[in-house]
Amino acid sequence: MKLANLNLTSIRHIFITHHHSDHNADYGNLLLFMWTTGLNHQVNAYGPRPLLKMTKMFLKLSECDIKVRIMSEGRLPLKDMIKAHDIRRNNGGCRGGISRRIMEDENVRVTAALVNHPPLKTAFAYRFDSRVDNRSIVISGDTAPSDNLISLAQNADVLVHEVMHLPSIDKLVSIRPGASRIKQHLLESHTTCEQVGRIATLANVKTLVLSHFIPAEYPFVTDEQWLEAVRPYFAGKIIVGRDLLEI
Ligand SMILES: [Zn+2]
Ligand SMILES: [Zn+2]
Repeated sequence: MKLANLNLTSIRHIFITHHHSDHNADYGNLLLFMWTTGLNHQVNAYGPRPLLKMTKMFLKLSECDIKVRIMSEGRLPLKDMIKAHDIRRNNGGCRGGISRRIMEDENVRVTAALVNHPPLKTAFAYRFDSRVDNRSIVISGDTAPSDNLISLAQNADVLVHEVMHLPSIDKLVSIRPGASRIKQHLLESHTTCEQVGRIATLANVKTLVLSHFIPAEYPFVTDEQWLEAVRPYFAGKIIVGRDLLEI
C-alpha cells in the first residue's frame, strides 16, 4: 500500500477474506500504522470469525505503545476508532452461501460469498459494486472452484481470482521429497488455470485478473505461461495481476 502511494489515513473499511497468515498477518499492523499516521475517523473491519477477538487481542498486544502515544502525542484511543465485524456463516451474514449486504455507503455496495478453502471452514470472496459509475469488481480470496463465487461474480466487470499452475506444481513436487501431501492440499483448496478460465466464462465477467500465483517464486511462471494456460477457457480480457499494476 505504501509502494502504491495509498494514504493510510484515507482507509475507512478493511475486508479480510480468511485467516491464513498470507492474508491477515499485517491486519493489526495496518491499524497501528493508520493510527500513527494520523487517522481521525472510524474504521470498520469485516471478515470471518474471530476477527473481533483478534482485533481486541491485537489492541491488547500493542497496549504499551498505544498508551504511550495517547499520552505523549495526544492521540484519540485506537480502540474507539476501530469497529470489527465478524461475518458469520449462518446468521444472515452469509446465509445460503451468498450475503445480501456486508456494507453499503454512498459510493459502494459490498456483498460476500462463502467459498471453498479447506481446511478452513470460513473463507469469503467479496464483490464491490460502485454506486458512482456502476462498475463492479469481485475478489475471490483463496478458493477451490466455488459455485457461490460464480453466482457472486455474475456479469462483473472485473474478477480478480487466485490461480495455480499445475505443471509447475508437479515440477516442484518432483524435486522436493514429501511434497506430494502439499500438492494434495493445493488441489483441494485452490484453483487451476483451466478452472479459473471456466469460472470466468460461467460468471460472464468482462475481465479476469489473475492473482495470488501458486507457485509464486520457484519454478517461476512467466506472464506468457499464465496467459497461455488460461486462454483456451476464457474469451474475455485476461490480465496477469502483478503487484502495483494499474488496470
Ligand atoms: Zn488461504
Ligand atoms: Zn493465500
